[in-house]
Amino acid sequence: MTLRLQQLNEASPEVALQMLDGLYEHSPWIAERALQHRPFASWAHLKHSMAQVLNDAGRDAQLDLIRAHPELAGKAMVRKELTAESSNEQSKAGLTECTPTEFERIQALNAAYKQKFGWPFILAVRGPRGTGLHKHQIMAAFERRLNGHPDFELQECLRNIHRIVEIRLNDKTACFPTQGDQVWDWQEDLAQHSDLGFQENGQLTVTYLTPAHLACSASIQSTLKTAGFDEVFVDAVGNVVGRYHPAVKGAKYLLTGSHYDTVRNGGKYDGRLGIYVPIACVQALAKSNKRLPFGIEVVAFAEEEGQRYKATFLGSGALVGQFNPDWLTQQDADGITLREAMTLAGLNEQDIPKVQRNPSDYLGFIEVHIEQGPVLNELNLPLGVVSSINGSVRYVCDMQGTASHAGTTPMSRRRDVACAVAELALYLEQRAGADGDSVATMGQLQVPHGSINVVPGRCQFSMDMRAPTDAQRDALERDVLKALDEICQRRGVVCQREVTMRASAAPSAPAWQQRWEKALTALGVPLFVMPSGAGHDAMKLHEVMPQAMLFVRGENSGISHNPLESTTSDDMQLSIDAFDNVLQQLATELS
Ligand SMILES: [Zn+2]
Repeated sequence: MTLRLQQLNEASPEVALQMLDGLYEHSPWIAERALQHRPFASWAHLKHSMAQVLNDAGRDAQLDLIRAHPELAGKAMVRKELTAESSNEQSKAGLTECTPTEFERIQALNAAYKQKFGWPFILAVRGPRGTGLHKHQIMAAFERRLNGHPDFELQECLRNIHRIVEIRLNDKTACFPTQGDQVWDWQEDLAQHSDLGFQENGQLTVTYLTPAHLACSASIQSTLKTAGFDEVFVDAVGNVVGRYHPAVKGAKYLLTGSHYDTVRNGGKYDGRLGIYVPIACVQALAKSNKRLPFGIEVVAFAEEEGQRYKATFLGSGALVGQFNPDWLTQQDADGITLREAMTLAGLNEQDIPKVQRNPSDYLGFIEVHIEQGPVLNELNLPLGVVSSINGSVRYVCDMQGTASHAGTTPMSRRRDVACAVAELALYLEQRAGADGDSVATMGQLQVPHGSINVVPGRCQFSMDMRAPTDAQRDALERDVLKALDEICQRRGVVCQREVTMRASAAPSAPAWQQRWEKALTALGVPLFVMPSGAGHDAMKLHEVMPQAMLFVRGENSGISHNPLESTTSDDMQLSIDAFDNVLQQLATELS
């Protein structure tokens, strides 16, 4: 029997509870309490309500739930005592067919985990795509998480339980994330292409105009064509562009997209998700022969990360007329200039100015991106609306004091710059923390040629400060520089500082941010608004047209620029639904 949302909303409490039977292992009380929040606007709404119940229930109840779960490939599995749901999940992951050595290894891990944390290891073995993790992925996750902090690990177990429930609910309701799965598969497919030197090690690296990069470009072009875009082309900097025509010729376009290059040994979703989500939406429109009162232009930006050449945002920058001709003579690590790389790739330098868009041809720019941070993951929220891309400022500093004998220099007579910088680092942490949504980092900190028996006389360090508005960033910067001056004065040391980067904040255009907010509300996804700590292509488009971004939750604490970067096809589906909702809103507004 397939469960329908309306049935669940209208059933008596007893019958409704029966409908949700088996979601949380041996713990019907979670569904029971969540049902008090009926009617649910969507399955996402129900899932969030259940997660909230568990969150509010406290640590003891959470531990009871975790302990109600069987060990992975444990004795219960061997004795065939698992619930039907658990048995199905463990066999889908191939755990019921472990070799004796694998089985032994899992038992050892189970024992070590149980001893360290006091509860069984919980992993959603059907994984982020719902089709099952490989045995080696399961072992790797097990070994990694064994090193976690107990507080974090408890929450990670609960998140995995929510994921198990999500998949069980999909099975119950026969509501599968079909487009999310498609977007997942497109990204998996694109991740086959990786630069030489990384491909061999199973790592994903796609830098500007390498053979792997060109293969990605070809793959995206073919996906755009198959999806039903009317025009597909590569522009003079290598951006792949797909245009889906409006109902009426001459109407404006909605601009969207993200980047397909990656950092070294990066993840599969950074950038790429924002290319494929709109493609999935256009595919659905094309399939049903639907045209909107505006066109849709998806741009897969060729370069955002600045890895092979120091030319960050080259792809989106070209759309706003910011291609810097000085970049052309830059050489990569092998001495190949950017100009040579472009010629080799068949790109025509003369055409670069033509890449610039006329803002009046467009309604605005929207970008979907994986969050690349832990916030949504921790809050059990699938989506977040971006309020602003943080403004930032970066310094490199060189502090000088007096290097002197560690044994003979009394504490009162030292000019110890390591201590001075340490004091500054703690101030930086405290001052940014006081804002709530500012961040500041001292990522580089060293005592050049330091010795164990010498008081540090020289220290080099960096500071990176970011905030949702320029004014907030400037206030943070002012206070930090004041503290630096005060520390130098008091300790009798000097510090040279240089600004290496200053980027303005890009607050979302209110009307566009509201469209995302309306979409989330329509989907029954709790609304959460947050700034973006990282820079994105939307920052560039911000300079010429209104923009707003949507974030999608990352798994594994939202880790990014890392092979562990992940998100589920269910969350991808929700971002597609949200994107589609924004398209419908615009269509209504314009007709
Ligand atoms: Zn990105």
